[in-house]
Amino acid sequence: MYSKSEMLFGRAKQVIPGGVNSPVRAFKSVGGIPVFMERAKGAYMYDADGNQYIDYINSWGPMILGHAYEPVVKAIQEYATYSTSFGAPTELEIKIAELIVGMVPNIEMIRMVNSGTEACMTAIRLARGYTGRNKFIKFEGCYHGHADAFLVSAGSGVATLGIQSVPGVTATVAQDTLTAPYNNLPAVEQLVAENPDEIAAIIVEPVAGNMGCILPQPGFLEGLRQLCDANNILLIFDEVMTGFRLARGGAQEILGIRADLVTFGKIIGAGMPVGAVAGPKEIMEHLAPAGKVYQAGTLSGNPIAMIAGYTLLQTLNDNPIIYQQLQEKSDYLVKGLKEAFGSAGVVYSINQMGSMLSAHFAEYPIVDFSSASGANNELFKRFFHAMLERGVYLPPSAFESWFMSNALTTEDLDATIAAAKAAMNAIK
Ligand code: PMP
Repeated sequence: MYSKSEMLFGRAKQVIPGGVNSPVRAFKSVGGIPVFMERAKGAYMYDADGNQYIDYINSWGPMILGHAYEPVVKAIQEYATYSTSFGAPTELEIKIAELIVGMVPNIEMIRMVNSGTEACMTAIRLARGYTGRNKFIKFEGCYHGHADAFLVSAGSGVATLGIQSVPGVTATVAQDTLTAPYNNLPAVEQLVAENPDEIAAIIVEPVAGNMGCILPQPGFLEGLRQLCDANNILLIFDEVMTGFRLARGGAQEILGIRADLVTFGKIIGAGMPVGAVAGPKEIMEHLAPAGKVYQAGTLSGNPIAMIAGYTLLQTLNDNPIIYQQLQEKSDYLVKGLKEAFGSAGVVYSINQMGSMLSAHFAEYPIVDFSSASGANNELFKRFFHAMLERGVYLPPSAFESWFMSNALTTEDLDATIAAAKAAMNAIK
């Protein structure tokens, strides 16, 4: 059933470290052979052996309208004939910047980069340059890309692989990264009190997606906002996952909390390599060439990435009903999963906000990295494979969020729920 994937993985391991270009894809934590994909359309992915899967990762977020969304494909095809890169400014970059500034609250300017990592790296450099301070606070289990300063108590693949301290990240760099447990405001207050006038920024996933999906508890983000205001610290929302997904204006809009800087990723390029950092003029104009905080990129604002993103974001902007539909579909799936797990007699904890969700197998609420780590991740592994065999592609790690697409139909959701029932009965 997976013979071509097996053969491809063998070949890949000869020329690509670990056989993959990004660690989580390797199925390290769930075991087995990673499935090599060939094509995808709408809600489905097809692997090299011709197996079909209902997709719940959607390229880790950007495929919010499903794969190979026709208007995006057409736009890319048309623009590819104009050139794949100019290395000079284009009107298209202004159009997408204007569109995003109109969609997202509290931002006046945006700088395009090529990944979420670059976006977060730039946001921290900008916060340091703007405040003249060196340290920043991040949360255990949150992931902000693979820049050195973020690889301290990181989530996603770092958590999946159980890497405690990343070789290559120097102690000197790591000492400026302070960490606190997610949802633990007193721990953050203590760090701020212990490091007066030294903290440039607090960076947070407003809804965490890199230790499974974890919701901010009431008062947590509000408390961070107040703490930042009282201590002249910049609050950075890493909306690489939540941006344009939870709402047109992202987490800031849906939770009603202002961030000083916002980072975006993947979805801005509709799956092309894009990230961005955005905020008010007063801060953003510290970036070069307006200011001295240097940041650059030969391929930044790439025309193919920009037209793909512009086409997707315009669709989201013009059709608010998409968010309502995503909510309904996600609610329907969660209800069905709860019934499936409940009838199989397994303990579970499902977290969901909008079209982001995840299931941990634990009898207690999952509110931070330590509670996520304590869940029955052995059961998750078996569940993952039992679902894969039944044609459902879940994130290959309990430390990742599931992402819904609006291409999912009720039939797809019913098929997923039926698969979950059968899978649980087979493995429990
Ligand atoms: N921030 C968050 C919240 C993310 O989820 C990710 C990647 N999943 C990143 C930053 C890094 O983005 P990229 O992989 O595009 O560098």
